[in-house]
Amino acid sequence: MPRPRPAPALAALGETPLTTLPGCGPKVAEKLAARGLVTLQDLWLQLPRQYEDRTRITPIRALQPGVAAQVEGRVEAVERGFRYRPTLRVAIVDDSRSTLVLRFFHFRAAQVSQFQPGVRLRCYGTPRPGQNGLEIVHPSYRVLDDDEGSELGNALDPVYPTIEGLGPASLRRLIGLALDRLPGDDALELLPSDLRIRLRLPSLREALLTVHRPPADADVGALLAGTHPAQRRLVIEELLAHHLSLRRQRLAQQSYAAHALSDTALAQRLRAALPFALTGAQERVFDEILADLRRPQPMLRLVQGDVGSGKTVVAALAATLAVAAGRQAALMAPTELLAEQHLNNLRAWLEPLGVRVAWLAGKVTGRARAKALAEVAEGDAQLVVGTHALMQEGVVFRDLALAIVDEQHRFGVHQRLALRDKGAGGVVGAESVVPHQLVMTATPIPRTLAMAAYADLDLSAIDELPPGRTPVQTVALSAERRPELVERIRRACAEGRQAYWVCTLIEESEEPGKPGQGRGMRIEAQAAQTTFEALSSQLPGLRVGLVHGRLKPAEKQAVMRAFKDGEIDLLVATTVIEVGVDVPNASLMIIENAERLGLAQLHQLRGRVGRGSAVSSCVLLYQSPLSQLARERLETMRETNDGFVIAEKDLELRGPGELLGTRQTGLAGFRLADLGRDADLLPQVHEAADQLLATSPVIAERIVERWIGSATRYASA
Ligand code: ADP
Ligand code: MG
Repeated sequence: MPRPRPAPALAALGETPLTTLPGCGPKVAEKLAARGLVTLQDLWLQLPRQYEDRTRITPIRALQPGVAAQVEGRVEAVERGFRYRPTLRVAIVDDSRSTLVLRFFHFRAAQVSQFQPGVRLRCYGTPRPGQNGLEIVHPSYRVLDDDEGSELGNALDPVYPTIEGLGPASLRRLIGLALDRLPGDDALELLPSDLRIRLRLPSLREALLTVHRPPADADVGALLAGTHPAQRRLVIEELLAHHLSLRRQRLAQQSYAAHALSDTALAQRLRAALPFALTGAQERVFDEILADLRRPQPMLRLVQGDVGSGKTVVAALAATLAVAAGRQAALMAPTELLAEQHLNNLRAWLEPLGVRVAWLAGKVTGRARAKALAEVAEGDAQLVVGTHALMQEGVVFRDLALAIVDEQHRFGVHQRLALRDKGAGGVVGAESVVPHQLVMTATPIPRTLAMAAYADLDLSAIDELPPGRTPVQTVALSAERRPELVERIRRACAEGRQAYWVCTLIEESEEPGKPGQGRGMRIEAQAAQTTFEALSSQLPGLRVGLVHGRLKPAEKQAVMRAFKDGEIDLLVATTVIEVGVDVPNASLMIIENAERLGLAQLHQLRGRVGRGSAVSSCVLLYQSPLSQLARERLETMRETNDGFVIAEKDLELRGPGELLGTRQTGLAGFRLADLGRDADLLPQVHEAADQLLATSPVIAERIVERWIGSATRYASA
């Protein structure tokens, strides 16, 4: 056995630029660098997103929605359509005498001519319910020669995240070349050996080789499920890297100073003036905030509270402390509608107490904007409410002491930090001063996940609703029963109540490289338009309104306001109504294609009703057949109204990626870890982090560098 070379030289090997690989010229290197892939080590850690199991063929009859599979069949029919956009549908039949539709939205003429009836195709993809049974959107496929046998692969094929401008085959080749230069364990390994031994995990080198090049005898099921020891080995190190990085960010935050805010006189006046008493949960959370604000270090607190739990008033109370101290507070909301609702509430509560509230949103322009900016800069405005417009250049606060961000899920960490930086600048003693930060979210996150995602924040939960709310009654109905609903809406509105009809649309996430935001919104708007027309003619006596994402903000607001003012009985809407809108008289909600939405989104939508004292209902309309996952989601919605319970279930069903939103934490950037699947590792991760920080900070640093690298250099800046 060759003697291992000394570690430093080998560690340097990881830092070798990719341009040293054959076939990686400046052009290719640039494309890789655009995705943060610069060194050999970056490619070692560019892990397969999933595997394609081409070791067997699944009969079409045995396909299951949502489960990727390889099928083989003969082309039976080809159809081109232009309904909303060009579409190519290819029907194939196999020996099980079942048909599968392959659907393409992007295709070339040459491709179309390949699909002659009778041609044999082998394809791979994830089937979903379509108009006529199952279909696969954009399968990968291969035309088989007629005399070609049916040899199958003997190992799993890794699938890597796509890199713009670089084909999958080239990427695979480069990763292979990089792996050929993987050094020995002693140079590579950073995990404490007692941890590895305790959990019986392979070395990093072995784990990387297994994950990139699964041997033919590897446990296929475990690899596909992401639970293979090699994967767990990598997951643990990745989780550790993220946790260490959040811990470091928190330490960095704590090195700043903040103005201590402790004058509660104005808060007491506001409480006395409110038409209701705070709930116990609101009291407790406000106390937690008070304790933070009193200290000369910046507060960094996340308040989770279900829709309707009353987060706004807690924010208002917090804001009074900045005002009472002669400083400023800002409240930022993700949409103009929501920001305006906050503005109205805060003005109603605070202006009678003499607090000057300013408004800054995208639509505030010209003279009004100049005036608002001047008020903010000179300190005439004590509380500033707005949208992202608050963070734009040219917005200068005289003395921002508290930054409040509502509905964190719509904002990224960086935006939160940007608002913080609006208040940075002053110096107390030797330390520079930043505002206190309060972040509010209506999407409860399970505790384990929150601890991992927000190791840089303190957590509070408003886990109690104000009294007098009646839980929303939820039913799931097959779409065929839609006619009954029309009658139900007629009756509800005849009693003076109001209703929502929410139209949703499938997201075609499988289309490679085409997230299609704009198009999705257009099709969704179209669906809402059609529904609006149908319902308007079926319900001639009712005032029906329509709101969707393609309306101009002013038009959207006008419709929402009319609905709020009771001038509209039935509001047909897309999911744009999701966040925060408060119309207490609305007590019936119908959600179309509910099977296509995630639990968090269903819960958010349903939260629009049940805000008044009338008994509210929510009808989840679904298209059959339901996948197992969709069935469980609808079941959960029927069983509970508790956002925390729903969040736990959501985590169990689909993992945290979407729970947290892509933009919001570093978490969506996980290469391999999936907190839903890997949550059991967290205690070990936290323990290892403590140990490393205490005994080997240099190793801790290297783990963060290895997995997160430039991203943290930016975030902790
Ligand atoms: P969310 O947490 O979803 O942002 P809001 O702050 O919009 O909830 O509050 C929902 C409604 O409940 C508002 O009309 C608000 O005035 C009211 N509310 C808040 N706290 C209480 C309370 N303690 N008692 C009664 N009503 C309350
Ligand atoms: Mg709110």
